[in-house]
Amino acid sequence: LPRLPVFEAIARHDPDSTVVIHSNSGRRFRYGELLGDVCKVRNRLYETAGRTDMDGERIAFLVENSYDYVVTLLAILAAKSIAVPLSPAFPAPELQYILNHSEALMLLSSAKFASKAEDVLRAELDVEPAYLQLDKFQGNGAHEKVALEKTCPGSAGMMLYTSGTTNRPKGVLLPQSVMTAQAKSLLQAWEYSPTDHLLHVLPLHHIHGTINAIFTPLFSGSTIEFLFPFNADAVWRRFAAPFLTPDQTPNPDSPHYHHRKITFFTAVPTIYSRLLTTHKSLPPDMQSATRTAIAPSNLRLAISGSAALPTPIKRAWSDLSGGNVLLERFGMTEVGMALSCGLAVVDRVDGSVGWPLPGVEARLVDVDTHQVIERGQERDPATGRERVGEIQLRGATVFAEYWRNPEATAKEFVDSKDGRGRWFKTGDVAVRRAAPPADSAAVGKSNLPSQRDWARGELYFILGRRSADIIKSGGEKVSALEVEREMLALPQVAEVAVLAVPSGKWGQKVGAVVIVDRDALPEGRWSPLEMRRALKGRLASYKIPQVLRVVDHIPRNAMGKINKKMLVKEIFQDEFS
Ligand code: ATP
Ligand code: MG
Repeated sequence: LPRLPVFEAIARHDPDSTVVIHSNSGRRFRYGELLGDVCKVRNRLYETAGRTDMDGERIAFLVENSYDYVVTLLAILAAKSIAVPLSPAFPAPELQYILNHSEALMLLSSAKFASKAEDVLRAELDVEPAYLQLDKFQGNGAHEKVALEKTCPGSAGMMLYTSGTTNRPKGVLLPQSVMTAQAKSLLQAWEYSPTDHLLHVLPLHHIHGTINAIFTPLFSGSTIEFLFPFNADAVWRRFAAPFLTPDQTPNPDSPHYHHRKITFFTAVPTIYSRLLTTHKSLPPDMQSATRTAIAPSNLRLAISGSAALPTPIKRAWSDLSGGNVLLERFGMTEVGMALSCGLAVVDRVDGSVGWPLPGVEARLVDVDTHQVIERGQERDPATGRERVGEIQLRGATVFAEYWRNPEATAKEFVDSKDGRGRWFKTGDVAVRRAAPPADSAAVGKSNLPSQRDWARGELYFILGRRSADIIKSGGEKVSALEVEREMLALPQVAEVAVLAVPSGKWGQKVGAVVIVDRDALPEGRWSPLEMRRALKGRLASYKIPQVLRVVDHIPRNAMGKINKKMLVKEIFQDEFS
């Protein structure tokens, strides 16, 4: 195999330690067998292509969350090619779009998705990918020593499609060097270790799945447990298992090995919200076992990202777990994880996504003046108001380009004056504030060098997407996220999306789409007047929504995100003329 940093890391880990567990069956796979399997699949790719020079070719794959997924991803990198993970949840036309757009040389599928793959290939495509159905694995338990070559291929990498929240998904090219830089940054910040046991319940074809849940744990020798699709009851049962069964020892031969406690859990706000809701209906013994399982002493790290974390969810999780404060981070397909709160609880300030991760450089560029907001200039001296800026990023973790889209690539980067690389314009806007005083006791607890190197920084507070979350109303700028946060703090509101609604008078006005909480409003009705009364004193009057719609359902994509441009047209149709 080529000498990729991730392969070197895998080869160094204890071969007997577990790399992947399938939660449902308890089936587990060890580090010692991983590279041998990668080699075998890589050779199948060579056979299928009829050649071994596949440098930089795109290979799409449709595989369930499993050991096979990990092997497939690594085998494509081993072939020096570019892995294009596909979501089985996508309808055939979406998959065809990706095959065409990425000009895929090959489509791989597991047995489970063979018929889906055949459906996709039946249509007329612009490309003719070779098709390979992967054998059901693998993981024969044999440890194999795999030799690593001298060279590391620069052409290997991954191409991920953005969530498509604002537009057609874009293909984001992430060379393996970028993937490695992203993993190393997270290793340092979140201190993944061989004793970590991750539970992963989200789709894998996003940056969060591939980097946070696969690539980084592979570097650290952690165990990855897949439980998919997400099911709140099953997740709670899994959390509880080690605290209900007598056998809690991490004995590798124990049948309860997959009942080792979960130490690391990453999810999106909607997942936490559903877990909190279902917790109330668990039987009493499960309630107490799960509370123990998610206590800070057992669940070392519970992370939230992909969308703004509503403070009520954060509070409720902390209350339930006896003080496990969710750690919020900010990431994008284009840059991996970019900002994160610190491991010390004082650094997990409500509403903040923390500061730049190790190796990531961030700046704020004033959305009005287009000037960089330097440290100490976070407030406008004339008005005393906080200055709002776009987050721009650079560093080894930033993607190379949008695939076959030089216009978009050119548009989203700005040259720097210091010659130290171009800045990527995230399109997200934020304000920056000083961090609270350090809790020296908590920081001092970490004796790993990483925490010393990763300096505490100023805190970023995301206001939302420039294109959809900043509502320009009568000369004022309103952050949809801020209004959502305040509305969620009201007992009447279960879910909310705040939108920019066109207005003849104001340019735009603030609109709210709400799912009401039936405990507070059993009739399921809420009037604009009542809403305004409830928000008075919580928000400046120009930020209080002028229009309100009560609905039963707010559409979100698999990552819990809302396409606001679409939603506003759907719900406030009558306001568009
Ligand atoms: P597309 O680019 O196709 O419109 P997308 O931007 O939703 O889709 P992703 O790359 O999956 O695709 O998501 C990145 C975006 O998610 C960020 O730009 C940001 O708007 C949002 N985001 C991520 N983490 C957070 C967070 N902690 N708080 C608020 N927003 C977040
Ligand atoms: Mg985006």
